[in-house]
Amino acid sequence: MKQFNIPNQYKSSFIQDIKRARKAEDKLKRDFSPTFIKREHVTFILARHFGFCYGVENAVEKIYHTLEEFPNKRVFLLSQMIHNPIVNEDLLSRGVNFIMDTQGNQLIDWDSINKNDIVVTPAFGTTLEIEQLLINKNIDIKTFDTTCPFVEKVWKRSAKLGNSNHTIIIHGKANHEETRATFSHSKHTGKAIVIKDIEEAKILGELILNNGKQEDLNSIFKDNMSEHLKIDKDFNKLGVVNQTTMLASETHEIAEYFKTIMIKKYGEESIKNHFADTRDTLCYATNDNQNATLALMKEKADFAVVVGGYNSSNTTHLVELLEQKFETFFISSEKKISSANEILSFNYKTKQEEPKFFPIPKSSNEPLNIIVTCGASCPDRIMEDVIQKLDYLFNVKD
Ligand code: SF4
Repeated sequence: MKQFNIPNQYKSSFIQDIKRARKAEDKLKRDFSPTFIKREHVTFILARHFGFCYGVENAVEKIYHTLEEFPNKRVFLLSQMIHNPIVNEDLLSRGVNFIMDTQGNQLIDWDSINKNDIVVTPAFGTTLEIEQLLINKNIDIKTFDTTCPFVEKVWKRSAKLGNSNHTIIIHGKANHEETRATFSHSKHTGKAIVIKDIEEAKILGELILNNGKQEDLNSIFKDNMSEHLKIDKDFNKLGVVNQTTMLASETHEIAEYFKTIMIKKYGEESIKNHFADTRDTLCYATNDNQNATLALMKEKADFAVVVGGYNSSNTTHLVELLEQKFETFFISSEKKISSANEILSFNYKTKQEEPKFFPIPKSSNEPLNIIVTCGASCPDRIMEDVIQKLDYLFNVKD
């Protein structure tokens, strides 16, 4: 896979050595078992796969290179570069301006941006409407586009589905930049609808199967479906794609669910005419991160720490998985760990940071097993800082 030149501030030789050693032993990444780092009486259990993915490294390399190459130009980002606060804060401090927030709310008026400016598209991609707006302003949308090729693969698959009259079901969070972009691209060639989880899939499935009412479809899915999507006409051919950072297992479950609905409606023998197999659009990094996290769940540990931006979808999914077995803390950096064994952990349900205590043995000399992992937008440097802080905290003798 291509190597990227990301700034040194995000690199960690400690983490790189671990990743290199695992890669040397297992080039094709067949072994998702964790890495064990023993430090006195603390053992760190690290996921086999974590940290910057292809799309994030590509985007980070490009924006820093652009800043170097065009020091006298105004550089704008359509929204956050990636969902990591430390990277975004650094870009802001270097003068990069964010045009929208992650929900698509305007932060900078379009009128104040002109053809002399550089506008960078983040790894999530953008909508066709925004692309057109930039073209109308004579802004170069190709040179500074960092849309991840794995997101573009989803768009290409959606276009194929649309061209063959399939309605495209997008498993994603309707407000997420990537889902907004995928929805926009999908609507261009076909009819599309966004569902956030298996519960919404089942609501839609029941409407399809039982010839549900159009008013119900309109009221439940409102802005998250193509205009004029008809319950009685547009659901006889389906294909499922996803926001690449959703739980792969949930996307599979949703795809299998709709396949079952179509089998009930049209029979097993003609399923190929009514349901498209889209398994090949799942992103490798999300799959690897989630598989590595599932492998962590086979271990015994005192607690787990997940590092990443609080608005990072893929990181949140790692927390959701780990908390099924371990007390799990979600932090953006080592600064959330205090020296008094306290940790400020983000609760993704309430969207608040909450002070917590580590569930540690009574004697600090008892062996401790700590799981640490991070999402696809977290620099290795932050991962190392978290491990060092935990090491410092728990290897202090009584
Ligand atoms: S998570 Fe996958 S699709 Fe998203 S930026 Fe990374 S490699 Fe690309």
